[in-house]
Amino acid sequence: MLIVMDKKATQAEIDTVIAVIKQRGFTARPIPGGERTSIGILNNKGHVDGSPFLGLPGVKDAINVTRPYKLVSREFKHEDTIIQIGDVSIGSGNLTIIAGPCAVESEYQALTIAEHVQRSGAQLFRGGAFKPRTSPYSFQGLGEEGLKILAKVREKTGMPVVTEVMDMENMDLVTEYADVIQIGTRNMQNFSLLRKAGRASKPVLLKRGMAATIDEWLMAAEYIMEGGNSQVILCERGVRTFVHHSRNTLDLSAVSVVVKESHLPIVVDPSHAAGQRDQVIPLSRAAVAVGAHGLIVEVHHAPEEALSDGAQSLYPDQFDRMCRQVRSIYNDLKESNG
Ligand code: PEP
Ligand code: MN
Repeated sequence: MLIVMDKKATQAEIDTVIAVIKQRGFTARPIPGGERTSIGILNNKGHVDGSPFLGLPGVKDAINVTRPYKLVSREFKHEDTIIQIGDVSIGSGNLTIIAGPCAVESEYQALTIAEHVQRSGAQLFRGGAFKPRTSPYSFQGLGEEGLKILAKVREKTGMPVVTEVMDMENMDLVTEYADVIQIGTRNMQNFSLLRKAGRASKPVLLKRGMAATIDEWLMAAEYIMEGGNSQVILCERGVRTFVHHSRNTLDLSAVSVVVKESHLPIVVDPSHAAGQRDQVIPLSRAAVAVGAHGLIVEVHHAPEEALSDGAQSLYPDQFDRMCRQVRSIYNDLKESNG
């Protein structure tokens, strides 16, 4: 249930509602909005009767929330969430481009790619230091050394960095270095990791599980928000289907569903969906056209030598073209939407 306060409700009236919610054994979660505050009721096992709240001063409405996810839903919070990372804001009103290699391989590699992508207009740098690889014999990432290289990239370019955390053990270490913590497709339902990310001090980029429904994905985001971290960015990266022409199938319809169901920003990863670079630019254009708030794209200055995901990594000149095209689509849409 969501208790919607009157625009003119005082802090004392809000506090009273919170106290009554707690008295009844539920959790109260105030959600400040542009115009008014709402208070979500969490941890109720069944239906909550709204009538006792409707009689309290300053209460405008008591709405039953129909979705299984609460904090992530538009029913709970109508306005888009905008996530601020340094000078970059992710959410409505602008297009955010995150780019970099699949994995950090060396300082030279990371800095070279960072300079290229920044020149083309990327605002954030991506690169894995801990890599979830299908084979234990594949390159697993540089670990802490990779995180230190990312810190150097940030220092030299000013770009905030996005990097994956694979397990509980490294959460604090990754949080220390990263500006955005990525939770990968394979960990989307690692509930203890999600809970830990819910207590982290940095925004979380939550990738959709490769076989997850939208509801399951939003419930995973709910774990993070329930833990107290409201800075969640959703990332559609394709799901497993029967096709062989691409690594995964990019579920573009998920973007419009998520925008309708949730106030959280959503970015699209065309690289892991495609698995091959010739599909990456067309999918990026489509993702922006369908309403994504941003893109996260793999780029490498020498993809044939990449230690992971070289086949799907764009060359810098391709990335440059992609940026120009998606920005033009984004701006056209923004203009025609008024
Ligand atoms: C990645 O972004 O490097 C990655 C491993 O992505 P995913 O979890 O979507 O496979
Ligand atoms: Mn990759």
